[in-house]
Amino acid sequence: MQITINPNPNPVADAERVARVAQPGFGKYFTDNMFIAEWNEEKGWHDARLTAYAPLTLDPATMVFHYGQEIFEGMKAYRQPDGAISLFRPDANAVRFARSAARIALPELPVKDFVAAVEALVKADAGWVPNNPGESLYIRPFMIASEVGLGVRPSSRATFLIIATPAAAYFNAAKPVSVWISNEYVRASKGGTGEAKCGGNYAASLLAQRAAAKEGCDQVVWLDAVERKWIEEMGGMNLFFVKGKGKDARIVTPSLTGTLLPGITRDSLLTVADDLGYKVEEVMISVEDWRSGAASGEISETFACGTAAVITGIGEAKSANGNWQIGDGQPGPITLALRERLLGIQHGSQVDTHGWMSKVIS
Ligand SMILES: *Cc1c(COP(=O)(O)O)cnc(C)c1O
Repeated sequence: MQITINPNPNPVADAERVARVAQPGFGKYFTDNMFIAEWNEEKGWHDARLTAYAPLTLDPATMVFHYGQEIFEGMKAYRQPDGAISLFRPDANAVRFARSAARIALPELPVKDFVAAVEALVKADAGWVPNNPGESLYIRPFMIASEVGLGVRPSSRATFLIIATPAAAYFNAAKPVSVWISNEYVRASKGGTGEAKCGGNYAASLLAQRAAAKEGCDQVVWLDAVERKWIEEMGGMNLFFVKGKGKDARIVTPSLTGTLLPGITRDSLLTVADDLGYKVEEVMISVEDWRSGAASGEISETFACGTAAVITGIGEAKSANGNWQIGDGQPGPITLALRERLLGIQHGSQVDTHGWMSKVIS
């Protein structure tokens, strides 16, 4: 893929950019540039360009507006102690993006093209990468069906874009979240799109998120669609449970049954937990296991993980069948140790023993 580099001739003034990066919020300010490439059946991927961030002009009959053929990724660029900028496992995002594309009948973008596109944007917008620990540049690659017409069929045209936004910590690490276990709604079922990172999964989740808020909870926990028994995910994050305490603790996460989104943070934490000497297990965990384990103290900690928020402790669970607290309701020691280790690797204060960091700018 040939990329034309045509950066924004009118970037945000230095002082204003510095002020925005200092108070980034999440998804509030966008960088000066974006990446865009087109695909059609005749030409394949073409017209790849790095260009000024700007609104899109799309025909109202563009397919994505009607049938929701859209996928996305979420990844981050991190400032290193020596000023360099690195990505965390960008190939893993590229591979997952290609899998999501295949499931939604969108064209696959080769891994090397995906990574080159992300790097082009990070290079152009390096001044938007925050310097503070825990902060980063959040990168949002996405692809939409861009054929115009209302016939229901896989689009013969697609548009791939990348935008980026400086990001502070997503949740306050010290403050654990409360969760509502949804019996009414499901996120994904076997044969559906649960494994694909597509906007449609999120559209289907929002009403449950609202129901959780009504119950006074921060987030929704999803159960399997068939038995409404097995724990799958929390909102847009994967879940982990700590069984036992101290050196003998086991770190347990729901197995990837085909309905869970295979998180890159989840995968990385299985490795990090093993590095720290904990036994790790991917198993089916029922709501009843969680409730009784939390009550007996066998489950000492529960946390959620994902790129945006990294690791967030869960202090309390509520459901139609009762409420329970996990541990003392505060983030546990193993949750915090895993968080510190993963953030340390990403921000370059701990040794990257697995070769996960990929330098974009020295
Ligand atoms: C993106 C996402 C995750 C987390 O994946 P990471 O690669 O760790 O960011 C988990 N669940 C859902 C539903 C997601 O969309």
